[in-house]
Amino acid sequence: MTIDKLNRCPICQVDQVEVLLSLDCGNLDNSTLYPTIKISACANCGHIYNQLSATEIAGLEKYYSEEYAPTNIGATDKTGDRPGSDNKNTSGRYSQLYNLVAQYINNDYRVLDVGCAMGGFLDFLQLRGLKNLSGVDPIAAYAEKAKARGSYDIKVGVAEAIPFGDKIFDLVVMDQVVEHLLSPTQAFKEAKRVLADGGLLCLGVPDASRYDQNYFFDFFWFLMREHIQHFDLEHLKLLAGQEGFTLVGFSRSDTPMMSDKMILPNLNVVFRSTNAKVPADAADDCFKLKELMVHYIANDSARLNHKRKIIGDLIASQQPVYVWGIGREFLYLYESAGLKACNIAGLIDANPYKQQTYSVGGRKIVAAGVLGQAEVGSALVIGAVAHSEAVKRQLSEIGYSGQIIEF
Ligand SMILES: [Zn+2]
Repeated sequence: MTIDKLNRCPICQVDQVEVLLSLDCGNLDNSTLYPTIKISACANCGHIYNQLSATEIAGLEKYYSEEYAPTNIGATDKTGDRPGSDNKNTSGRYSQLYNLVAQYINNDYRVLDVGCAMGGFLDFLQLRGLKNLSGVDPIAAYAEKAKARGSYDIKVGVAEAIPFGDKIFDLVVMDQVVEHLLSPTQAFKEAKRVLADGGLLCLGVPDASRYDQNYFFDFFWFLMREHIQHFDLEHLKLLAGQEGFTLVGFSRSDTPMMSDKMILPNLNVVFRSTNAKVPADAADDCFKLKELMVHYIANDSARLNHKRKIIGDLIASQQPVYVWGIGREFLYLYESAGLKACNIAGLIDANPYKQQTYSVGGRKIVAAGVLGQAEVGSALVIGAVAHSEAVKRQLSEIGYSGQIIEF
């Protein structure tokens, strides 16, 4: 049997992998984002990641520039923690990262923000007195916006091939980046290359060991399909050790993202570039994450089954069903909880970009006005779970009198 190299563990390269969960997350019509997640655990080091085929990888790369970036840039919500956003949620997350690393740096440090998006964290650092600021981002539209701020050396490029010279930075930042990468190992090698001896690498990742704390929605951290690696501190240490970094410090925080209900279990870590390279010998600690994942998957599978029962009643009644909020939670309900078999009367989203661009099952996304003519006996499923309070307020303003289903 030939084993596809793409399926090797991104940390230790061993090809013995156990699939913990295979789940269809649904898709927008014509999306190139892969629909099915395959959450896998490396049998050698316990790393958790999503196995992708070559076709799925090509689709994901296209998705970033053609779907992900325009939807973020076109978003009308100004309070969510998005790439390039500037609000209390975003600055709260930046503060956690900065507070961890501030004690080890000074204002003369040459800083590279890898995955700088529109330059939000560079702005944050500039306000705190840092002057030598550079950034790189794979999305040209983001990099253009960061460049337009005028104060930073910005290039278009990826973490696995950083378009800067050797040993020219004192601090490399990869905040909410490595979980997106196919080869985090290569990104660490590149960080090592561009860092001066003794330089610092500072990372922020969603902490996979805390995915099932602060429940927000089933499999939420897997539905975010841009995340293909699921790290805890142990696996970041394993990866860092084999690439010549040693742990300096770390912090954990719970940071609100799109709303106060949606909490990022954030893990910030600082490593120093050293001469020591430690082979990735997995300790027992490395398999704790797999146990936590098995629990997370069992809990959320039970929640999915509960939703299937509720949606099963809607299918049986054939009552007209509206859905408000066309995002990843909706797509999962549509595909895996049975919503697509309902008598769908309308798919609603407040984002004008989505209204102009998206369709699901051949049906266009529309504005909430359609509910003014809702059929008697209809039901409305709130898909935008982060914004359910705001949706319910608007439903009462519209005078919607059907059944409201909130998961
Ligand atoms: Zn491994």
